[in-house]
Amino acid sequence: MICDLCGKESEDSYKAIIEGTEMNVCADCARFGKVVGRKAAPRKEEKRGVVQRHIEKGPELVESVIPEFYKKIRQKREQMGLKQEDFSKMLSIKESMLHKMEIGEFIPAIALAKKIEHVLKIKIVEQAEEKPEHAMAQRKAEGPMTIGDMIKIKEKK
Ligand SMILES: [Zn+2]
Repeated sequence: MICDLCGKESEDSYKAIIEGTEMNVCADCARFGKVVGRKAAPRKEEKRGVVQRHIEKGPELVESVIPEFYKKIRQKREQMGLKQEDFSKMLSIKESMLHKMEIGEFIPAIALAKKIEHVLKIKIVEQAEEKPEHAMAQRKAEGPMTIGDMIKIKEKK
């Protein structure tokens, strides 16, 4: 921890009343005030545990368009005897857009893909579970500990 008074880094933290203010100070500075408590600096493992509990959430369902969507669209549209012109009108999109979609050059947004599913009675949207990036969030939580961080951690307890 960093001493509130002298700014020196210290292993142990003393809680002391100095000139009427409660401060977390080092052993040297604790002598200047009335010591009301003492605690060892929190270990990194403990800190990670606290942070991780706060960011942990259940798996989220993410919708995405399947890679072979364009084959399915074209196949079913032709089966139904729909021209690209007619089908694009049904979807209220440009014919050129539909053309690009059917050759896989344009991937429809989920909303449009669902509309296509509805019109053609096919399945081109799939749901997948996406687990939160623990490693990423954890990396962000690390780094040098500041007095501000220590205060925040104390308040949570
Ligand atoms: Zn000090």
